[in-house]
This record gives sequence, C-alpha cells and structure tokens, in this order.
Amino acid sequence: MIRVSVNGYGTIGKRVASAILAQPDMKLLGVAKTTPNYEAFTASKLGINLYVPESSIKEFEEVGLKIAGTVEDMVRNSDVVVDATPNGVGAQYKQLYQLSKRKAVFQGGEKSNVADVSFSALCNYSEALNKDYVRVVSCNTTALLRTICSLGKVSKVQKVRGTIVRRAADPKEVKKGPINSLVPDPASVPSHHAKDVNTVLKDLDIVTMAIIAPTTLMHMHLLNVTFSTKVSREDILEVFKNTPRIILIRSKTKVNSTAEILEVARDLGRPRNDILEVAVFEDSVYTSGNEAFVMYAVHQESIVVPENIDAIRAMTGFNDVDTSIKITNSTLGIRGGYII
Ligand code: NAD
Repeated sequence: MIRVSVNGYGTIGKRVASAILAQPDMKLLGVAKTTPNYEAFTASKLGINLYVPESSIKEFEEVGLKIAGTVEDMVRNSDVVVDATPNGVGAQYKQLYQLSKRKAVFQGGEKSNVADVSFSALCNYSEALNKDYVRVVSCNTTALLRTICSLGKVSKVQKVRGTIVRRAADPKEVKKGPINSLVPDPASVPSHHAKDVNTVLKDLDIVTMAIIAPTTLMHMHLLNVTFSTKVSREDILEVFKNTPRIILIRSKTKVNSTAEILEVARDLGRPRNDILEVAVFEDSVYTSGNEAFVMYAVHQESIVVPENIDAIRAMTGFNDVDTSIKITNSTLGIRGGYII
C-alpha cells in the first residue's frame, strides 16, 4: 500500500483525499489543516486523521478537534504527499518534503519549476515514473491536454487555437468576483494556458485567449484544432466516444449548458456532483478540411483528481499506464461515451 497524505484540505485536497480512500493500492494517512474551519470538522467527522502545525494544536483542540500529529509527522510517515495548498504555498512546503526525503505531487497553481515534470495522465504518464516531484497541471490545462492528446489519435495535431471562458470562483468562494463583468484574463494574448500546455507538449503550436465570466459552475473551452491531414467529424466523435475521461453530451437530451450538466451529475448521484470528465457538446464537433472545432465544459473542482491519483502511481514506480488509468477510472466511476 502506498501511504499518501494530503496537505491542504480545500476544494482539490478534499476530493483527492476521497479518491485516495477509494484506491485498492493506497492508504490515506491523513490531511493537514491550518485553520479549524468547517472543512477540518467534516474531515474529522469522516474519520480522516488531522495533522496541524505544532503552533495550532491548541487552537484545534479548543474547538474539540482531535489531532493525530503535526504536519511534519504526517510528511515523515508518508510515501507521497499531495500538496493541495493555495497557489504558491506548495513551493514554500517543498523544503519540508525535501528535508523529509518524501515525494510530493503539486498542483497547477504552482510554477512549473516546482517539480521535475508537469503531468497529464493521457499525455506523459511515463515521464513521471519514479520522479520525486510532479506537478499536475491546472484544471484548464488538464482539459486541454486530455482533449489534444486524444485528438492526436485521429491525426497529427499541428496547431491549436483556443478560447477559454473561465469560471470566476468556485461555489464556496464568497469573496471572489467579478459578479457582473467579463474580464480578459489577461488582456494580452496568449493567455498562460498555452504556455502551460507547452510544459507537457513542448513543441505544440498553441495560442489561447481567456476571459473570466461571472459563474461558479464550470469553465467552457472553444477549440480550433488543425491536423496534418484532412479529418472527418465521425473520426473525431469516434475517438471522443472511446476515450474514458471524455464524455459526450448529446443534443437530444436537451443538456445545453453547464448548469444542466451539473444537474445531470446531481440526478445521477455523483459524489459532490462532480464531473471528472471533459464534457464535450456533441453537436459542437465540426470539421472543415484539416480543421476541427469543438466546445466542451470543464468541472474545475474535480477534473484534476484522477490525474493526481495516476501521478502517485507513476511516482512510486507503477509503470503500466493503461492499468493505472483503468483502476482510477473504475474506482472513481469515471466514464467514457455518452453521459446519459
Ligand atoms: P482551496 O483554497 O480550496 O484549498 C486550499 C487549502 O489549503 C485550504 O484548506 C486552506 O485552509 C489550506 N491552506 C491555506 N494555507 C495553508 C498553509 N500555509 N499550509 C497548509 N494548508 C494551507 O484551494 P484549491 O482551489 O483547492 O487550490 C489548491 C491548488 O489546486 C492550487 O494550486 C490551485 O491552483 C489548484 N487547482 C485548483 C482548482 C480549482 O478550481 N479550485 C482546479 C485545479 C487546480
């Protein structure tokens, strides 16, 4: 069993912790919290060990939270730490992981140089084999890479041009905006998402533009992909249909928006209403000569979870990418094909 701990039990950390609990080859040692907020209480209620900074033990115990040890204890007793602390905080923890000689998975909010490799399971699993520090790319980059690497099975991808409509905040974030504006992110081109894709697909010609929209549910991507040969809509749909971690939304189900995609997740009883797959609108797939066009939605809170699990396996030497992806998919209920 791989002993895994999670530093930072927020949007990503809590989902990765739940996913670790579902793996047959992993044991969740516990999670680290710095503030005794509702997430610390829910972790405790779920029977998850809480580790906190030495100086915070009293504060947690005063509100009735039982502490299993310090963050240092947690790191020392882990084979792999998944760092899901806020943007830039992970880099500050790297020294602790290094001093304790422990492997760590970082998230997309960290600069790429925090790790030996930036990771996307469908694109470069083998590059993470036995590495000490791996960075799972951001939610938007994970979706871009899953889509582009899958499309590579249709024909060689020569060029990608994309527009990203970003959710402004996660549902729990009460202080973020905008609440009534569309904001270029940034107002210069290309946006950083293209550069992030290039940390994995180094030679790809990709340009992205992004705007922030006042929504909390999902991102939406509008992609234009140029291939080295003529492509057909049928070939592209075939690849999407046969790629677990990508699902198709068909128009006859009358799911026409991110709100309705999440309603389907609720109706299907998915844990936390999560959609861990890229959700492609089937009717948006259009081809013209060497070009393809597609629109898909991205559930930012959960899409990186399976990649975190596969990264842990790769770093601990499990060298069968297909089996790792299969185990992750089946334990987390991840689908391919039509969602309904
Ligand atoms: P979050 O704010 O929801 O959670 C962060 C957690 O870390 C919270 O529990 C917070 O209390 C804790 N924390 C804060 N300071 C800490 C410290 N010094 N030490 C330990 N824990 C600390 O953040 P998140 O959205 O889960 O983001 C975590 C990482 O995942 C970031 O790199 C982010 O860019 C990346 N990411 C986020 C999303 C998303 O949509 N939320 C998607 C993909 C990747």
